[in-house]
Amino acid sequence: MKFSGKNVLITGASRGIGAQIARTLAQMGLKVWINYRSKPEIADALADEINKNGGTAAVINFDVTDEDEFIKGINLIVDTDGELSYLVNNAGITNDKLALRMKTDEFTSVIEANLTSSFIGCREALKVMSKKRFGAVVNIASIVGETGNAGQVNYSASKGAMIAMSKSFAKEGASRNVRFNTITPGFIQTDMTAVLSDEVKKAYVENIPLKRLGEASEIANGVAFLLSDYASYITGETLKINGGLYM
Ligand code: NAP
Repeated sequence: MKFSGKNVLITGASRGIGAQIARTLAQMGLKVWINYRSKPEIADALADEINKNGGTAAVINFDVTDEDEFIKGINLIVDTDGELSYLVNNAGITNDKLALRMKTDEFTSVIEANLTSSFIGCREALKVMSKKRFGAVVNIASIVGETGNAGQVNYSASKGAMIAMSKSFAKEGASRNVRFNTITPGFIQTDMTAVLSDEVKKAYVENIPLKRLGEASEIANGVAFLLSDYASYITGETLKINGGLYM
């Protein structure tokens, strides 16, 4: 994979899909900024692992729902490296409940954590990337943003809106050579899906044409492609990585 840029910020990268994106992009030669909200020891351990394996990683602490902190984080990266080439809006949460029982703040808090934070990231990235007339952003949405899901009106609304938002950013960023794309993962083995019972997982797998849950590395490979020069003519696209569950 070939990259014209040199560094990348990955939000929510101390564990799960984000951590694997950091490992993959570091292996491909990018300096990775590992954003974490809590548990600095996990973020530090990941950065040590990457640095020991010949990559370059740094950790950066902020909560993506705190606009000031997010902006400060991006400014610190630009001050340190002279640029931000790539951003992956990966941080996300769920708070599942049937709609009839969902309180309004349980809806809006998920929108804020997943969608509003990605908006802030896209806007700030576009500002700094525009100056260099170069950059790319990948937003990690979800298959349920395409299909809907019972018990997830908040989460699916946030992820569906991320897809539409990315396309709008793609239209605004194109004249400045800043690309915006989305990945919609299916069911991937991380802490987020570890809470599902074996019974539920078995039922999902039965419906997945490739007959297994996905690996975080399979999402990371898609991110690497979309950020790389190999995807230089791709913007506003939504890449489904779901084992064929939704085509
Ligand atoms: P995960 O294992 O639960 O990890 C989520 C990460 O996001 C954690 O590092 C968490 O940090 C971070 N995070 C959450 N809220 C944050 C905030 N306000 N500020 C900064 N960091 C925050 O989830 P995952 O499975 O890796 O999911 C990664 C992304 O993929 C999410 O956007 C998720 O919606 C999406 N996705 C996942 C699946 C799946 O099957 N796993 C499917 C579709 C989409 P802390 O350690 O501090 O909590």
